[in-house]
Amino acid sequence: MALIVQKYGGTSVGSIERIEAVARRVIKAHQQGHQMVVVVSAMSGETNRLLGLARQIDDVPTSRELDVLLSAGEQVSMALLAMAINRQGVKATSLTADQVGITTRGGFNNAEIDHVSTERMTSLLEQDHIVIVAGFQGRDENGNITTLGRGGSDASAVAIASALNADECQIFTDVDGVYTTDPRIEANAKRIECIDFDTMNTMAKLGAKVLQLQSVEYAQQHRQALRVLSSFEDESVGTLVMPTAPTQAPIVGIAVQANQHLYTLASQAEQMIWQSAGIESEIWNNGPVETNSSQVVVSEADMVQLKRAYGESLNYIDNVATISVVGRAATDCEQAMLAALQEEGIQIHRVQHLPQCLCLLVADANYKQAVCTLHAQFVETQIDVGMTELRAVS
Ligand code: ADP
Ligand code: ASP
Ligand code: MG
Repeated sequence: MALIVQKYGGTSVGSIERIEAVARRVIKAHQQGHQMVVVVSAMSGETNRLLGLARQIDDVPTSRELDVLLSAGEQVSMALLAMAINRQGVKATSLTADQVGITTRGGFNNAEIDHVSTERMTSLLEQDHIVIVAGFQGRDENGNITTLGRGGSDASAVAIASALNADECQIFTDVDGVYTTDPRIEANAKRIECIDFDTMNTMAKLGAKVLQLQSVEYAQQHRQALRVLSSFEDESVGTLVMPTAPTQAPIVGIAVQANQHLYTLASQAEQMIWQSAGIESEIWNNGPVETNSSQVVVSEADMVQLKRAYGESLNYIDNVATISVVGRAATDCEQAMLAALQEEGIQIHRVQHLPQCLCLLVADANYKQAVCTLHAQFVETQIDVGMTELRAVS
């Protein structure tokens, strides 16, 4: 008998039919003798719908109330899943994060999990219940509802698995694992069988949203291995994410952040405002202040803060995308990659090196072509990224 934590994302619980399919999968594992804790996201589109309602009232809603609102989506899914399981004659109980005892730090909207109490979940498991937990939410030290940032149910699952010392933490989504690039951009992307935490961290940080960055960081800190699987396939093998991978291709994959905005900070004054505005610009650091001019890339999520800090005064250059080639050989291939893109007529705005990673800034309109070119010439041509087939417990 194993203790398995499974997490189902928005599309996996996106309709009553999908919830019933999840119920069947969970019941099957339970009938095989496993103890099951299931973390659910809101039904797909629901968090955005709630966000839209809030924005009809206020562009920048009170952060506390936003968390009260957004956390509601996960509560709907957890109750529906528990009902679907109960209807099949199997005991299931849904719990909010507060009922579990998941405490967070770091304020609202983007909180971090601090602690997960196991007593209530363990007691229910001992009574042979399937435990369903609302992902994405927590409670701060003052008893307020908090949320964990977009995609945060992944972090809930990892933290719960780690606290329970689970045998498996399975992240079920709408693709069959972590791929060499987003399979919705490049149909030839290949599933990676095993990836180490450092590489997954880099992929997630630079746009591979298949796993939320904080969940990978948490898993790495707590050495909690994860498996990413498809909830749409019965024989999904998935990707194992673990401290070290047995072997890893020289270029593991390509991550993409599309729809970003490139601006010039033309004066020292503008650069100083940037430094105090708290806008995240992870990759394209400001140039040295003495040069008087530097360029910054702003994600869509940071545009509200940018507008607040500068109004319309900044010099806008282009709608851009960051393409990040990840792997130990990435920077060695820089010249060949630039040549391949130039051959396709794709202009590169900027190049930046990160550890085991080469980031290229291209016009947003060109990002798909750039990904496909680099994938065909530098990822697909490598020896097979596959290792031994590692099968899921389910
Ligand atoms: P969920 O709602 O289940 O949490 P997400 O939408 O957050 O699912 O993440 C799954 C999506 O991540 C996929 O549909 C895919 O488009 C995208 N994705 C981006 N990069 C990758 C990658 N390297 N491998 C797999 N999927 C990726
Ligand atoms: N429902 C939240 C979101 O859409 C959390 C999640 O799906 O993991 O971001
Ligand atoms: Mg997700």
